[in-house]
Amino acid sequence: MSLRALVVGAGPAGLAAAARLATDCDSVTVVDAAPRERRCRVGEHLPPAGLTALAALGLAALIDDPRHEPSPGVRSAWGDGGVTDKEYFSGLPGYGLNLRREVFDAALARHAEGCGASLLFATRLDGLARAGTGCAASLRSAEGRWSLPVDLVVDASGRQASAARRLGAKRRRLDRMVAIIGKVEGCAPVGETGRVHVESVADGWWYAVPFSNGAVIAALCTDAACVQRHAGGAQALWRARLAASRLLAPLVQGGEEPRRVQVVDAAGQWLDYAPGPGLLAVGDAAAAYDPLLSWGITKALCDGHAGAEALLRARQGDQDALRAHRHAQLQAFRAHRSRRRAFYAAESRWPAAPFWRSNRPGTPAAAGGLR
Ligand SMILES: Cc1cc2nc3c(=O)[nH]c(=O)nc-3n(C[C@H](O)[C@H](O)[C@H](O)COP(=O)(O)OP(=O)(O)OC[C@H]3O[C@@H](n4cnc5c(N)ncnc54)[C@H](O)[C@@H]3O)c2cc1C
Repeated sequence: MSLRALVVGAGPAGLAAAARLATDCDSVTVVDAAPRERRCRVGEHLPPAGLTALAALGLAALIDDPRHEPSPGVRSAWGDGGVTDKEYFSGLPGYGLNLRREVFDAALARHAEGCGASLLFATRLDGLARAGTGCAASLRSAEGRWSLPVDLVVDASGRQASAARRLGAKRRRLDRMVAIIGKVEGCAPVGETGRVHVESVADGWWYAVPFSNGAVIAALCTDAACVQRHAGGAQALWRARLAASRLLAPLVQGGEEPRRVQVVDAAGQWLDYAPGPGLLAVGDAAAAYDPLLSWGITKALCDGHAGAEALLRARQGDQDALRAHRHAQLQAFRAHRSRRRAFYAAESRWPAAPFWRSNRPGTPAAAGGLR
């Protein structure tokens, strides 16, 4: 019997799922609303454990490119205001990696295509309904709108969870975090490139990644309400807080302010739904992590692959495969939230600031209704 799969979203979760599905399905179509050469995908740091996880998935070749830059560790100013360096050399493989996202994304897309998946960019899922034992998807691109009947659907559409929500799933949002991201080009050389910098401030926290070409990616993670309250909007808030930051201001010295910053959703969330038959959410669509722990890309790749395995096993009659995968997703998410709580609890300098008040462990939003 022929097996047709649709993967919604060509991020790391969707492409990892598509690559795995393509070895067993007759057709795997991946759709992504964004154009293929989109340059603004968020997230670039892989810690050493992420590199080990990629190697275990057989994806080490995807990051074997000199344009990705090794990272020696993380410098943080968090909690008591002191500066601490975490060195990666003490654990295997001894370094992390700062990805050139466009290079990594292109390699991942080629890998999925090489496995047999068809990738359709600038193509949006704009309808999904159950039809017999499968689903009927409605897709839209500049060429028009058409319907695609499929047996399996993987929702890898990120925090939008665009496919599963069309079949009744609900997003459970745990906070209102957004990230204001700017790329500062032409910064004066710093002694050591590649070290991730993290700094807590009254409005939230910063992270920055300096590349060897003088570019620094600097993101302020804050509450959506802080952005709305700031008179000059996101760019003015980003500029003012960057200039006042202790670790980042020296990093971006001599650099050129970006013409536009990007504001992206960075809220913690989980998806309230029952997987199957034939539908599974993976990556951020299933559970979106706090960017503080730099685990979203690794989690997306591992979860996309494992989710595809579970769908295929379910198809072969394993009654427990989807439930077990969902259980593992939620267990991992609970463990992540507990690590996150410990980090946020270590910062107590601004108890009255809205960001820290709403992220204080024990507040209803921080608990989030996840059992
Ligand atoms: C500020 C910030 C910094 C981060 N930094 C890091 C980091 O350094 N390291 C790390 O590991 N992780 C980081 N992350 C997390 C990481 O970016 C995500 O966890 C990861 O990208 C999730 O991958 P995904 O494939 O699940 O979803 P995404 O990468 O979000 O991909 C989802 C795709 O679905 C598409 N889509 C959505 N709706 C539709 C639709 N209706 N039809 C068609 N396509 C659709 C979107 O266009 C998108 O391409 C960061 C996150 C944020 C917010």
